[in-house]
Amino acid sequence: ALRRRRRRRCGRVEAMESQKAEVIVKPSFDPFSIQSELLEKMVYDALVWSSLHGLLVGDRKSQKSGKVPGVDMVHAPFALLPMSFPETHWKQACEVAPIFNELVDRVSLDGEFLQKSLSRTKKVDAFTSRLLDIHSKMLEINKKEDIRLGLHRSDYMLDEETKSLLQIELNTISSSFPGLSCRVSELHRMLLHQYKEHLLLDPERIPINNAVNGFADALAKAWKEYDNPRAVILFVVQPEERNMYDQHWLGMVLKEQYQITTIRKTLAEVDAVGELQADGTLLVGGEAVAVIYFRAGYAPTDYPSELEWKARLLMEQSSAVKSPSISYHLAGTKKIQQELAKPGVLERFVENKDDITKLRKCFAGLWSLDESHIVNDAIERPGLYVMKPQREGGGNNIYGDDVKESLLRLQQAGNEEDAAYILMQRIFPAQSPAILMREGASHREQTVSELGVYGAYLRIKEKIVVNNSPGYLMRTKVSSSNEGGVAAGFAVLDSIYLV
Ligand code: ADP
Ligand code: MG
Ligand code: MG
Repeated sequence: ALRRRRRRRCGRVEAMESQKAEVIVKPSFDPFSIQSELLEKMVYDALVWSSLHGLLVGDRKSQKSGKVPGVDMVHAPFALLPMSFPETHWKQACEVAPIFNELVDRVSLDGEFLQKSLSRTKKVDAFTSRLLDIHSKMLEINKKEDIRLGLHRSDYMLDEETKSLLQIELNTISSSFPGLSCRVSELHRMLLHQYKEHLLLDPERIPINNAVNGFADALAKAWKEYDNPRAVILFVVQPEERNMYDQHWLGMVLKEQYQITTIRKTLAEVDAVGELQADGTLLVGGEAVAVIYFRAGYAPTDYPSELEWKARLLMEQSSAVKSPSISYHLAGTKKIQQELAKPGVLERFVENKDDITKLRKCFAGLWSLDESHIVNDAIERPGLYVMKPQREGGGNNIYGDDVKESLLRLQQAGNEEDAAYILMQRIFPAQSPAILMREGASHREQTVSELGVYGAYLRIKEKIVVNNSPGYLMRTKVSSSNEGGVAAGFAVLDSIYLV
């Protein structure tokens, strides 16, 4: 039996190699050229695969789907085929990920830099002000975070004209889709394999996506370092979350591969059942918490009352490892992104000159609104800029003529309200045809894409235990849409095909 099995295995390898040799790698592929009969089959197979492999979200038409798992699910919106992406830029994004991880850590340790850079914003932005208050309290009590866990996602667009990979933003809180993005990469590999003769695309050109395992690994190592085998990992979640399956993927890997229990609580629930012991241990419903993973708490709407702020402070005061800590959270704000892009600032945090060059290479133009010549230019040519408040989660930015109007309004007001925003160079990525799947239907669209590269980082005092980029998320949206969020309904999940 053993011999037979070995023979079979060898046979399979040979078959795979001969198949591989047949594959013609096409640099660009037009999904619109797929015959309708074939397309129908692929769509059908993709929908079945998604349902069986947990590429799912709660159905927005259902009341319960954001609260109760297992009911009223629908496949997550996805692109039928992976988007072509240049291998050089892919490698560049992977290469800078650990440098960005390290940068966030270094910036987070400079409390004065964070407070000073955000001081004007604090006066006019109540939400940022509340975050800074928590940060100040931690500085006052000289709170040290010896175990620092970063679960980031750095997002990029490929600027068509300059052919450069430019960072849109770096997310340090609630970096979403580590779970579902892996499923999409697998779905695309499956389709390329199954329809090889028709598509002539090489499934191996879709990079392996280990985002969920990488995040779970970093969470598990942080949990282990906390050194209480009975402690749990707390997922802080929104009261209603249709993207819960993305989160459950992470919880499941933690349970099945690391035997770590996760619990899910809203900020209000943490307030109700959370308590701090004298030694700093956070108890939630009587259970000790080793690690707090935030999938809520990044938006003002997450704090409808004082209770939620109390819960956030309680968690920050505790000895639990937080992803993110308040200083990691602040280090990921748009104002800090803009401050880091100023000449000479990176040098304060990064020693290695090559690393500085690599980081700076992917910075787009970023400006504060007190730079009057830029503001004037943006009023004249608003289409070349994006105006961004200190917000997360999509749907908050200002584009086009609204940039002009907003800037004129701020100029007239003449107060400090302008400190709530930054200005950013608008990036124009190339358009590509794509087939977008939503609620079982396929749509042919002209699209643009945004590549997110996940970063995992774990540091225990001076020792860097994890610093890598385990996976990626491509998001593709109709080119006429300004915003890019999948959960916000603008984009679909995608993967990349290296060319
Ligand atoms: P958020 O934290 O809300 O996701 P982002 O900075 O990522 O904020 O902006 C949201 C979306 O707006 C992005 O996903 C992208 O589609 C678009 N966007 C942001 N900045 C730019 C830019 N400089 N040029 C073009 N599009 C942008
Ligand atoms: Mg963001
Ligand atoms: Mg974003």
